[in-house]
Amino acid sequence: MAEVQHWRVTYNDIHNLIRNVTPKIAKDFNPDLMVAIGGGGFFPARVMRTFLREKTENKSLQIQAIGLSLYEPLPGSTQEQIGKEVVRTQWLSPNPGKQLLGKRNLIVDEVDDTRKTLNYALTELQKDVEVELLNYPESEREALRAETKFAIFVVHNKRKPKLAELPEGTSYYAGEDVDDLWLDYPWEAINIEEHDRLATLDKKNAKP
Ligand code: 5GP
Repeated sequence: MAEVQHWRVTYNDIHNLIRNVTPKIAKDFNPDLMVAIGGGGFFPARVMRTFLREKTENKSLQIQAIGLSLYEPLPGSTQEQIGKEVVRTQWLSPNPGKQLLGKRNLIVDEVDDTRKTLNYALTELQKDVEVELLNYPESEREALRAETKFAIFVVHNKRKPKLAELPEGTSYYAGEDVDDLWLDYPWEAINIEEHDRLATLDKKNAKP
């Protein structure tokens, strides 16, 4: 089997990609809440919050965390589930109030590969919205549903056929579109100096 080409990304690369794209997200979507998909979405969400707080009036912008796993086998996952199914490892805590409802919710992850994870997150969060709606009289539900928006931000989008389409009306932002390489993120590195050194060499040799 052909070896997958790797591309190393540094903390500074990620920071700068986020800094570049945030003004557009602030202007076009202006999120009320960030939902970070763990673990890869945590660092990007935290960095983006700094820039969003700078660019918007929303100084108390919160990050909620959800955990989804597709590539990493979890103890107890069957061979069938691994690679085929997205497994929830953490979710929003049940909240009797409006957690997502009526808000502009920005889902954050590090990479959009096959899009399976993002599609799962979005579909499940939309189901949560329907559950939250049940706390309101039917006459108010349509307006509340219409007010509830979702957008997606990923640091990297791989240019490749996706396994799922995002629902119409979902805004989508990527820090950078890249070829179908395997991205090595800095938080996966044991030796960060060596990672950064090799990342500099990668950049000298080619740009995806
Ligand atoms: P998808 O559901 O879009 O196929 O994959 C999303 C998840 O797979 C990401 O959140 C990430 O955990 C993992 N993943 C996909 N491609 C890459 C990659 O190039 N590098 C790393 N480190 N993880 C990846």
